[in-house]
Amino acid sequence: MTTRSEARLSPTLLPSPSSLDIVRTEIEHRNPAQPEFHQAVREVLETLAPVLAARPEYAEPGLVERLCEPERQIIFRVPWQDDHGRVHVNRGFRVEFNSALGPYKGGLRFHPSVNLGIVKFLGFEQIFKNALTGLGIGGGKGGSDFDPHGRSDTEVMRFCQSFMTELYRHIGEHTDVPAGDIGVGTREIGYLFGQYRRITNRWESGVLTGKGPHWGGSLIRPEATGYGNVLFAAEMLRVRGEDLEGRTAVVSGSGNVAIYTIEKLLALGANPLTCSDSSGYVVDDKGIDLDLLKQVKEVERGRISTYAERRGGSARFVSGGRVWDVPADVALPAATQNELDENDAATLVRNGVKAVSEGANMPTTPQAVHLFQRAGVAFGPGKAANAGGVAVSALEMAQNASRTAWGAARVEEELARIMADIHTTCHETAERYGFPGDYVTGANIAGFERVADAMLAQGVI
Ligand code: GLU
Repeated sequence: MTTRSEARLSPTLLPSPSSLDIVRTEIEHRNPAQPEFHQAVREVLETLAPVLAARPEYAEPGLVERLCEPERQIIFRVPWQDDHGRVHVNRGFRVEFNSALGPYKGGLRFHPSVNLGIVKFLGFEQIFKNALTGLGIGGGKGGSDFDPHGRSDTEVMRFCQSFMTELYRHIGEHTDVPAGDIGVGTREIGYLFGQYRRITNRWESGVLTGKGPHWGGSLIRPEATGYGNVLFAAEMLRVRGEDLEGRTAVVSGSGNVAIYTIEKLLALGANPLTCSDSSGYVVDDKGIDLDLLKQVKEVERGRISTYAERRGGSARFVSGGRVWDVPADVALPAATQNELDENDAATLVRNGVKAVSEGANMPTTPQAVHLFQRAGVAFGPGKAANAGGVAVSALEMAQNASRTAWGAARVEEELARIMADIHTTCHETAERYGFPGDYVTGANIAGFERVADAMLAQGVI
C-alpha cells in the first residue's frame, strides 16, 4: 500500500496541476488553522504548473514541499513589565523560511493579530519577494502579538529588550537579519539593536536593518517601500502608454508605507485623495497634505480623524467606511492583509480604476485579484510591487559590510533601477509562459525559478 508521504514524493505525480493540488492539500492538512499561510501557498502553487511542465528539473520530488516547509520556526515567551509594574506575557516568533539565496531576511511585526500562521504567510511571501530583488537575501519573518498602540516609550523599550533577549541567539549578519514591519519602525529597531549590542558585546551593524541614519542605517530606507510601490505602478502604466501625472489615487493605511506612497505620488504629479487607519478613512478633495499627515501619524502617533479635524473644509473623516468607495484612477493598498475584497474590487472597477499596486503584503483577496485581472486592470502583487523596502534593506547591509554610507541620491537611483528590473522580470516572465500582463504569474514564476535553482544546486537539505 502507498502511504500518503510516498504518494507525495512520487516523481510521476509532478508536474501536473493535480499533483500541485495534492501538495497543497497535504500542506493544509499539516498546518491546520493557518488560513493566511494556506492562502499565500495556494496563490503561488496555482501559478506554478506551467514552469513545472516546461522545466522538468523542477519536478524533482520534494522540491515544492521543501520550499513550503520553513527551515526553522522559533516561538518564545516575552515577559515584560508595564509602567505600573504589572507583568505582561506576549509571544515572540521568528520563522526562518528559506536561506538558499542568502541569510534569512524580513521584518518583525508587532500587532495583536500576529500568530504563527500570519508569520508563516509573511515569511513565505518574503522568499519570492527577496529573490525578485536579485540581491542575495533569503526569506524570513517574525514578530509578536504585542500591541505598541498606546504604550509609552519606556514600555516599548522594555518589551523590545525582552524580545531581543531571546531573539539574539538566533540572528546575525550572516544568519538572519530582521527589520521593521507593522508596529516596528526606527524607534523599535533602536531598542532592539541596543539590546543585541549589549548582550553580544559586538557592534554588528548588519544584524538589523531600518536603523537610524547616524548609527548604521541607510538613507531612503524609511521611504523605500512606498516609493518603490509607486515606481512599480508607474512602470505598469508606462508599458500601457500611460503615466501617473494628473491621476487620482486612493491609498489605504497611514503608516510608513502609506505616507511614503503619498509622498512619491505627489512628487510624480498624481493626486492622492485618501488614507486610513483601523477607525476609518479620510478623503481630502484637495489631495492629502503630507506635512499634516506626518505630524499626526509620525510625530504625534495619533488617529487619522485628527487629520480631518485640523485640515478644515477639504477633508472629511468617514468612520468605519471602505476607502475603496472613493473613485480614483489608481489604488494602492498599503495597510494590511485581505483589506481589499471582491466587493471593493467591483466598486473600484465600476469607478474606472486602471492600476492596483500592493504596498502591503497580500492586501487583496484572491477573488478580488481575479476580478481585477478579468477586468483588464493592471495588478501589481506585493511580492514585486512592495519589494523596494527589503531591497534598500539589502543596500543597508551592503553599506554596513563595507563600512560606508551612501548619499540619498545614490540609494534612490539604485531603488529606481531595482524596481524597474523587477517590473521587467515579472513582465517578461509572464509573457514567456503565455500569460502576458499577468504580474502575479510573472512574479511567482520568476521568484520560484531563482530560489528553486539555488535549492537544486545545493542538494537535498
Ligand atoms: N517588512 C518589509 C517587507 O515586508 C521589509 C523587510 C526588510 O526590510 O527586511 O518586505
